[in-house]
Amino acid sequence: MFSRLQGKNVFITGASSGIGEACAYHFAAAGANVILSARRVEKLGKVEAAIHEKYPTVSVQTIELDVRDSAAVTRAVESISGAIDVLVNNAGLALGTENVDWLVDSNIDAVIDTNVKGLLFVSRAVVRRMKEQGMGHIVMMGSIAGLVGYASGSVYCASKGAVKAITESLRAETIGVPIHVTEIKPGMVETEFSVVRYGGDKAKADAVYRGLEPMTADDVAETVVFAASRHPRCVLADVVMLASGQA
Ligand code: NDP
Repeated sequence: MFSRLQGKNVFITGASSGIGEACAYHFAAAGANVILSARRVEKLGKVEAAIHEKYPTVSVQTIELDVRDSAAVTRAVESISGAIDVLVNNAGLALGTENVDWLVDSNIDAVIDTNVKGLLFVSRAVVRRMKEQGMGHIVMMGSIAGLVGYASGSVYCASKGAVKAITESLRAETIGVPIHVTEIKPGMVETEFSVVRYGGDKAKADAVYRGLEPMTADDVAETVVFAASRHPRCVLADVVMLASGQA
């Protein structure tokens, strides 16, 4: 079913953990070459080694990249040789669990700079490349937080609402150009995400999942690969994924 991905080049941001890392394994399993980026290069090295061991014919490139750095994003995309067939625009985080009246400047900056500006920097560079190539598929990692707000979620929800808006704008801009755009909007997925959100407090992070079984990063990665492997006449535009029992 995923044979269309054989030999394709897939660029993944935030590939050092969680959903991005899982995407790296699932695309490699489908025979795609993967270009993995994140800030923690030692973690990327471990993902690369695991892929080399399990899928020796697949090529892996790792790029140290902070998506908040516009110039670095441009250089990173330029460093990718050959076509970029698929982009998984995944790097992101949620910092700040404050209500609006207690918002902390550094948390606002981190979330907006990464989830919104970083995603735009990567989109800009890759869309230019894909237009030159005359094809490509972009998978944006949104969230159900982009559809509905919740208490203490103002900044993160705003950032994922922006991902939805950017996705829809890009889709409108690429009508008639064979660049496909998908947005995946997961609900609760157990990754390092909550640990980062609570500043490394694992007990607080685990409490987020109390009372329901969260999705796994593999659940989301399987869906990303499915979306990226459809026949070119068909676009999986928008996918909402919920943990069973999640309201
Ligand atoms: P993780 O914390 O496990 O992964 C986040 C990834 O983003 C890491 O690889 C991290 O790499 C990377 N990242 C963070 N900041 C930057 C940066 N400035 N530059 C480059 N890379 C960065 O969490 P998830 O896998 O859960 O999150 C992946 C995406 O999924 C995010 O966009 C998140 O918003 C979204 N999502 C997550 C949900 C969940 O419940 N977990 C639900 C819905 C959406 P490094 O630190 O090495 O740079």
